[in-house]
Amino acid sequence: MSKVALITNITGQDGSYLTELLLKKGYKVHGVNLHYTQSAESVGEVQRPHNPHLSFHDCHGENAQGLDDLLATLRPDEIYNLDVAEPVIIEPAFSEHPAHGAGISALRMLEAIRAQGLEHSTRYYHASSSELCGLVKGMTINEMVTFNPPSSAAVAQICDFWAAVNYRETFGMYACNGILFNHESPRRSENFVTRKITRGLANITQGLEGCLYLGNLNALRDWGHARDYVKTQWLMLQQAKPEDFVIATGVQYTVRQFVTFAALALGIKLRFVGKGLEEKGVIAAIISPVAAALKVGDVVVAIDPRFIRPEEISQVSANPTKARRQLGWVPETSLRDLVIEMVQADLTTAKEAARLKLYG
Ligand code: GDP
Repeated sequence: MSKVALITNITGQDGSYLTELLLKKGYKVHGVNLHYTQSAESVGEVQRPHNPHLSFHDCHGENAQGLDDLLATLRPDEIYNLDVAEPVIIEPAFSEHPAHGAGISALRMLEAIRAQGLEHSTRYYHASSSELCGLVKGMTINEMVTFNPPSSAAVAQICDFWAAVNYRETFGMYACNGILFNHESPRRSENFVTRKITRGLANITQGLEGCLYLGNLNALRDWGHARDYVKTQWLMLQQAKPEDFVIATGVQYTVRQFVTFAALALGIKLRFVGKGLEEKGVIAAIISPVAAALKVGDVVVAIDPRFIRPEEISQVSANPTKARRQLGWVPETSLRDLVIEMVQADLTTAKEAARLKLYG
C-alpha cells in the first residue's frame, strides 16, 4: 500500500521539490494551500496535475472544518506543514501582515489531527527556519538555540515551532521541526538575494537590464540547495522518535562571493571597487561569449540603500552535526553547483526574453 502524504504550501519551492521526492518514493501526494500566497516560480511535477498520484485541495482561510474533513478523508500517514510566515524583506521589522494565518496554522493542523483520532498514526513535520533564531551574535546555532525573533514573521514562526513541541510532549504525537537555514534553487522567489542575483546578472548578459542593485554585500549566509534540504524533511519523519533538527551546510559565504560566483558562471570575472554605498562590481574580464553584450569596465553591480535592512542579521552560523549523525544526511550540492544551476535556468529564460524582444 502506498503511503499518503499531505503537503501544505505545495506550490512553493520546497513543496514542489518535496512532492517530486515523495512521488519517486511511491507516495500518494495531496497538496493544499492554506493561504492564497503562492510562489509563481514553482515548477516541475506540481505544475503537471495529470499525475494520478498527485491531488490538490482547497482549504483556504479560517476554514477549520475544511481541514478536519480533508484529514478525515485522506487519513495521511505524513503531514508536511510548509506553511511558513514569510520573512519581512524591506518593511518595518514589526508588522502584523506576515503573522496572519501562519502562527495559528500549525495549531489548527495539529488540532485537526487530534480531532480525527490520528494523533498516534499521522506523523507531522513543521518547516521552521533560521529566521526565528534572529540576532544570536557570535553563536553557532544548533538545536539548543534560544530563539530571538527579529520580526513579526519570526514571532509567528515561533508559535508554530512550539506548537509541534507542545503536541509531541503533551499528546505523545510524532511531531517535529526542521530549523532550515537558507536553501535556494532556480525555483526560489526573487525576494531572496540569490535568485535576484542570478536572474539580474543573466538579464544583464542579454541586454535586458543595465545594472544589479543590491544592499549589504558583506552579509554572510549558509546557502544550500532546496532539493537536498527536502530530503531531511522526509528523513525526520522516518526516525524511531520525533526530534527537531538544524539543517544547514555549516559553511558561510558573503553576498559579494555569491555575486562573484554567479558572474563567473556567466563567463564574467568581476572586480569590486570602492567602499560602502559607493562599492561597485566592475567587469574585469570576459571569459566566455555568453556575455557578448558587455565589455571590460562596465559597472554591473551597485548598491541601492533601499535594499539595506535597518535590522540586519548579517551573519548566521549553523552547526548541522545532529542531522549528519542521526539522519545520516550531508548536503549533496556544493554552492558552486547550486549557483551554476540557478544561473543556467535564468540564462535560458533571459535568452528567450531577449529573443522575443528582438523579434516580438
Ligand atoms: P534571509 O534574509 O536570510 O531570509 O535571505 P535573503 O536572501 O532575503 O537575504 C540574505 C542576505 O542578503 C541578507 O543579509 C540581506 O540583507 C542581503 N542582501 C543584500 N542585498 C539584498 C537584496 O537586494 N535583496 C535581498 N533580499 N537581500 C539582500
